Amino acid sequence: MRTQPIRPPLLSALAAGVATLLAPMLAAAQFTLAPLPYPADALEPHIDRTTMEIHHGRHHAAYVNNLNGQVKNFPDLANLSLEAMQGQISKFNTAVRNNGGGHYNHDLFWKLMAPAGQRGAPGEALAADIARTFGSLEDMKKRFDQAALGRFGSGWAWLIVTPDKKLAITSTPNQDNPLMDLPEITRGTPILGLDVWEHAYYLKYQNKRGEYATNWWNVVNWNEVTRRYDEAMK
Ligand code: MN
Repeated sequence: MRTQPIRPPLLSALAAGVATLLAPMLAAAQFTLAPLPYPADALEPHIDRTTMEIHHGRHHAAYVNNLNGQVKNFPDLANLSLEAMQGQISKFNTAVRNNGGGHYNHDLFWKLMAPAGQRGAPGEALAADIARTFGSLEDMKKRFDQAALGRFGSGWAWLIVTPDKKLAITSTPNQDNPLMDLPEITRGTPILGLDVWEHAYYLKYQNKRGEYATNWWNVVNWNEVTRRYDEAMK
């Protein structure tokens, strides 16, 4: 008499198949895509739901997946925080620079925006520093928008705290950011950043990057910018 398998063969085969599929995914999943901190339509009408869904669910997700794909080439990556990675990005290859930068930048970008009622205003010390450095908040925005519009092709505009604790406006190409230890980067701690890749605005604004940048100020999470400023000034 034949003995019965403990589990039907089909189920066993399925379980083995799922385990085989999941094992490398779990082992390689060093970096993860956090959910958006608010619903995808929370920034409407300034940033539309579809743009947010594609930007987060496809573009940001791709940076995370591609970065995880590099862990086998650079096992050290697994021991680094996303932020620490930026400060030693020169040790790695272009794929880590682009995708590690992309993951860091987008992770930050979502937090720098907030739904209505949760956006606040620049804190006292930050507001005073902006006035001292740029003349006024409006002047700072003007300078920032010039950096956003002046960035040819894809990249980011930034408000940073420099190593000598001064506010400055910079921009970077591609997915570079001010934390990266690269000679062409003006380094500092980013406290505000604007994604000016076309994928961030093209569905709603098409080629009108200036209109996107202007409207984006309406969704800036000043509570988070202030928190990051206070932290950087410590
Ligand atoms: Mn983007």
